[in-house]
Amino acid sequence: MRSIKRELERKRSALTEAIHSSMDSTREADHFRELAKDPYGSASLTHDEEIAAAVVDRRARELQQVNSALEDIEAGRYGVCRDCGSEIAEARLRVLPFATRCVACQAELETIRRAA
Ligand SMILES: [Zn+2]
Repeated sequence: MRSIKRELERKRSALTEAIHSSMDSTREADHFRELAKDPYGSASLTHDEEIAAAVVDRRARELQQVNSALEDIEAGRYGVCRDCGSEIAEARLRVLPFATRCVACQAELETIRRAA
């Protein structure tokens, strides 16, 4: 489990860095549009900004998952299914380090979601 923790910590710092750098480039794009005052140019910048914002959003959500997985490790409840309380297979955690449910409970949850 130690290696998963290291992996999560590495992911956390990479995500934090990526979020900061894309926020910087979004600010630069704002500044550039201010200078350009070109309606076509600003349209394409807005589109880029939308993409950048979506990327930041996705990374922020991922960062949240990394943080809560790390909290679970600290609290000693990492790798325990939050529905049935049984241990999540380590093979599953290697593929899906943020998994909070065992395969059976996750499958059940997805069946319910699909039905809804
Ligand atoms: Zn379960």
